[in-house]
Amino acid sequence: MAGVDDRTAAARGIDPTQAHPARRYNYWLGGKDNFAADRASGDELERHFPKVRLGALANRALLQRATRFLAAEAGIRQFLDIGTGLPTADNTHEVAQRHNPESRIVYVDNDPLVMVHARALLNSSPEGRTAYIEADLTEPDAILSHPVLHDTLDLKQPVGLMLIAVLHFIHGDGAAKRIVGRLLDALPSGSFLVATHATSDFGSPEQQALYRQLVESGRSDVWTRPRDEFAGLFDGLDLVDPGVVPASEWRPEAGAVIPDRSDINVWTAVGRKP
Ligand code: SAH
Repeated sequence: MAGVDDRTAAARGIDPTQAHPARRYNYWLGGKDNFAADRASGDELERHFPKVRLGALANRALLQRATRFLAAEAGIRQFLDIGTGLPTADNTHEVAQRHNPESRIVYVDNDPLVMVHARALLNSSPEGRTAYIEADLTEPDAILSHPVLHDTLDLKQPVGLMLIAVLHFIHGDGAAKRIVGRLLDALPSGSFLVATHATSDFGSPEQQALYRQLVESGRSDVWTRPRDEFAGLFDGLDLVDPGVVPASEWRPEAGAVIPDRSDINVWTAVGRKP
């Protein structure tokens, strides 16, 4: 993998023999920041779900459209992006600061490899600010009370909470909702939640059974959720049009070719806290 040899990896607590979501996603997006274990895991999932790359690309494009919506149309100048991923082109702060150079962004991820690449996330515009916190979404209070967050964001002003392709790493019925609720409680009226989430809704009963087996045997770490449970994360928020849709159908670019929804498998929605 580019930039990190095995010794550096070990010193930073990175285990190259264990597949990791950030690096597998980087592999699906065509990036170079991944190890053999990540590629093997990515290939195994792709064998079962041949369209998984299409979903990853649609998800990444959605992140950029939704950030642009918040920055350009909703007046959001502060972002809390949890589950940042490895930097690629057009990270959240680049899209937001293109519209409003004074935008402030706090990135949070639990993979130490993201920290190694954090410099690329921290190249803020001079007028704005970016910061990075290594923390776990399962401990929202540690994120919310982190001094770096309070140095960078003013939680009395609206925040765009970005939970893009990360909630499906929180396993268990109801587990995602508790975390999202805790985070939203800390944000003022006028804040937004942008979330995307892998789903098995479009699979045949056989595919769904196969997928459950992959999760139960530990060969997939992605805990898919059905549409209703995903939509429930937005309870109490005002959903922005077009509501809950596959990533590729949320405010697509004019003229975009929309793939069959059963090929995307990623629910998306944006909601505003009243
Ligand atoms: N949001 C980016 C990247 C998604 S990949 C995008 O949509 O393009 C998912 C990211 O979530 C990875 O970087 C992974 O390390 C991170 N992640 C997974 N579980 C997490 C957790 N419990 N806490 C914080 N980050 C987590």
